[in-house]
Amino acid sequence: MRLLKGLLFLWFCLTGTFCLAQTVQDIRLSGTPADGVRFVAELDKEADVSLSKLNNPPRLVIDFKGTRFDNQLLQKKWPAVGFVHTCRTGTPKPQTARVVLDFPENCQWQEKHFSLPPQSAKNWRFVVDLNRTKTKTTTNATPSTKAETNKQKIIVLDPGHGGQDPGAVSRTGRYEKDLVLMMAKETKKLLEKAGYKVVLTRSKDIFIPLRGRIKKAHEANGDLFISIHADRAKNSSAKGLSIYTISEKASDKEAAALAERENKADILYGMDLAEYQQEVSDILIDLAKTDAMNKSSQYADNVVDEMKKKIRLVPNAHRFAGFVVLKSPNIPSVLLEMGYLSNREEEKQMWQKSYRNKLSQALVNAVNQFFKENP
Ligand SMILES: [Zn+2]
Repeated sequence: MRLLKGLLFLWFCLTGTFCLAQTVQDIRLSGTPADGVRFVAELDKEADVSLSKLNNPPRLVIDFKGTRFDNQLLQKKWPAVGFVHTCRTGTPKPQTARVVLDFPENCQWQEKHFSLPPQSAKNWRFVVDLNRTKTKTTTNATPSTKAETNKQKIIVLDPGHGGQDPGAVSRTGRYEKDLVLMMAKETKKLLEKAGYKVVLTRSKDIFIPLRGRIKKAHEANGDLFISIHADRAKNSSAKGLSIYTISEKASDKEAAALAERENKADILYGMDLAEYQQEVSDILIDLAKTDAMNKSSQYADNVVDEMKKKIRLVPNAHRFAGFVVLKSPNIPSVLLEMGYLSNREEEKQMWQKSYRNKLSQALVNAVNQFFKENP
């Protein structure tokens, strides 16, 4: 009998601790460019995770099932980051690793969560992005999910450059920054006519750093981000429209050089691209690879389909490069190069309202198609 008890005890110990599938090895909290908070848990394997939102006091409970904490994380507390007051760990059941995030009283927030498979880092990462929402003064009775699905889609248009950064200069001395601002304002009108809400990252001739553009897109709660540019080339016969989505590896040398030119705005004008920790930018790139990247590509392909009915495109018009401005973690983002300012004919066309109208209309058609496919 004593032996049986002993064996049973041993069995409980084994199933309760050693047989757990995975371990939470690290937990980090950091601020995001959109004034939100990012929670990252590193695990040696992918875990089944459940989240529950609780009130009084407001908190978010994250349960990693069949998971244990690395010893150094047990009963640990993390200091406040942004609007997250505390982050603490516990083990409510022997096979559940629980993390609780505490928020201030009456705080309302939205969260998005996802798992990232090991890439440059060796661990799985479970990420929760938290953004504080405005406290509703009227009624809190409407479930946020319903409001979400019925809400008007928000398009963020980002005219490139501005202020002391003219962008590319045309053969006749005209500036990219002026062209793309006109184009953005005209596209805004057409999108609004089609029922969208439109936010411009700039509506005047001012300089905005690249990260500031991403921040604006997040503050606006954008569903789609379109950055508008025009290119130049040494070869004056180069012409045609192209559209880019993000990739760590550029699709060709030309694309890499273009991204370098466009990214330069911040370096040239005194902003530090490395203001965000390396880790955050790694995650941004990882994320861009997943859902938002698929959707960005989908929209870019829609644009190519619409544009080719109307105007001349460069060969393989949907291209890839590492544009800083496309690194929003959750918003599908594309960058449009309307054409080449170094080409005499194309420069003339781009300064014609009727030509820009064709491009704008194609962008709107592609937006319609995109939201038909992603309601
Ligand atoms: Zn540009």
